[in-house]
Amino acid sequence: MPSIRSARLPAEERFTVTITVEPVLLAAGAFFALAANRPFFAAALRGHDAGEPATWAFVAAVTALLVAVHFILMALVCNRWTLKVVLAPLFVATALASYFMARYGVFFDAAMVRNVLHTHVAEARELLAPALLPHLALYAIAPLVLLWRVRVVHTPLPRAALIRAGWLVAASGMAAVALLAVFQPLASLMRNHREARYLITPGNVLVSLISVLGRETRAAATPRQSIGTDAKAGPSWALRRKPLVLVLVVGETARAANWGLNGYARQTTPQLTAMPVINFPHVTSCGTNTEVSLPCMFAPHGRHDYDEASIRGSESLLHVLSRAGVAVHWRDNQSGCKGVCDGLSNDSVQALNAPGLCHNGQCFDEGLLHGLEARLATAQGTQLLVLHQLGNHGPPYFRRYPPPFARFVPACNHDDLALCSRQEIVNAYDNALLYTDHVLGQLITQLSAHADGLDSMLLYVSDHGESLGEGGLFLHGMPYAIAPDVQTQVPMLMWLSAGTAGGIGLDAACLRHQASKALTHDHLFHTVLGLLDVHTSALEPAWDLTHGCRDLVAASR
Ligand SMILES: [Zn+2]
Repeated sequence: MPSIRSARLPAEERFTVTITVEPVLLAAGAFFALAANRPFFAAALRGHDAGEPATWAFVAAVTALLVAVHFILMALVCNRWTLKVVLAPLFVATALASYFMARYGVFFDAAMVRNVLHTHVAEARELLAPALLPHLALYAIAPLVLLWRVRVVHTPLPRAALIRAGWLVAASGMAAVALLAVFQPLASLMRNHREARYLITPGNVLVSLISVLGRETRAAATPRQSIGTDAKAGPSWALRRKPLVLVLVVGETARAANWGLNGYARQTTPQLTAMPVINFPHVTSCGTNTEVSLPCMFAPHGRHDYDEASIRGSESLLHVLSRAGVAVHWRDNQSGCKGVCDGLSNDSVQALNAPGLCHNGQCFDEGLLHGLEARLATAQGTQLLVLHQLGNHGPPYFRRYPPPFARFVPACNHDDLALCSRQEIVNAYDNALLYTDHVLGQLITQLSAHADGLDSMLLYVSDHGESLGEGGLFLHGMPYAIAPDVQTQVPMLMWLSAGTAGGIGLDAACLRHQASKALTHDHLFHTVLGLLDVHTSALEPAWDLTHGCRDLVAASR
């Protein structure tokens, strides 16, 4: 039985609870089930009538099931010595997870946990809104203070094992009874809304964390599989009279719905609209977050034959191009290239510290163009320059653009979106798109200025979209199967400098014709190989937008 020490004891002994491990785990399980699972219950109870006794029976049974399952999971790793080591971080992780789930409607699947693990300090700082403090005080600090007062009573090992076994049997029995009671509705919930399991907290965080760490450990231990080992320069390389530079801009969190070129009610792309760009209005992303989309965009088999382990364990498009003789360089203004540029030339805007463009570890995207003039003036051969934007990375969209781009007003000027109206959030988001339009416009202007001595192309595509309050959802990262279109429909465009199409033997009108089709990130790998005329058995012509658009007769003229 737990006992509370008398107040006559020394100060540090007062209110100390002497107890065995199991009741603490039971209390923790009950706390998690009741305090951290509101989003799960909201999803599970959709369509249930609150006045029906059956609904309350369902809630009671599911709560019992959650308590029992979390108890069993914790009981497998907690003993007298590990109890506080396991529970303390679990309380903090659960409090953080429940905050972001309730606030932004995010799900904690493996992709989300991978995102969290790879978050930079500057990104994390932006997520720490003042509203998080009372939430942490209630859901992390309060249980931590109680945990601090717990003193686990010493029990001889055989007896401790017996007690633990008894509790585990009881918890398993409770889980079984609860499961039987709600099997029918619970099975139908898991069948129709499989993603609801990513709302069961902290089970979602624990299971996803174990899965991600396991996968990353295995991936780190095995060398990347080579792909496109037969890559070589195509016939147009010998016919070209000028160096060729392809600039691939990987956008961030730009959604197709707010893209001016796609007919959005607001003109968010005024500069690009005035330029002869080829716009691709129907492009679907491979993932709903950077950690999934980025490696997938540079892989031969993207979403149509998705295999995350194979994508992460293999070389990327950039390695194939490099093997064929393309000079590849990756410049990053975000959270790195996610393995896509491993072993290849790369730098970051933060490290370049472009004057006047960086503050607190974050830089405006114009920093991506730093030193570009010199690079273009001395360009030789065939080059691919990848520019990875910070783009529309939220929640604080207003931090993504300099003051002159705050044209849609009033714009949300808080890190915490909950402090702004929906219109203010959209205004800030659209201002950030205006700034991307400016960066791309400036890039095209610079490439145009070198057209006499250099053939150049720009290909821009965003990595995924964003929710801006539709259906109560914000940000991105929804499980792919249930992600709304705004998170998966992304802007894409292409531009060729004067003379480039003829110079490399490409029929621009043919390419323009391809633009109206429904396309996906899966086209990127093969289309870049096609644009740069790199031949390899890894190229699948059906996914190459330049297939059938090559005109070598024009190149030889
Ligand atoms: Zn992203």
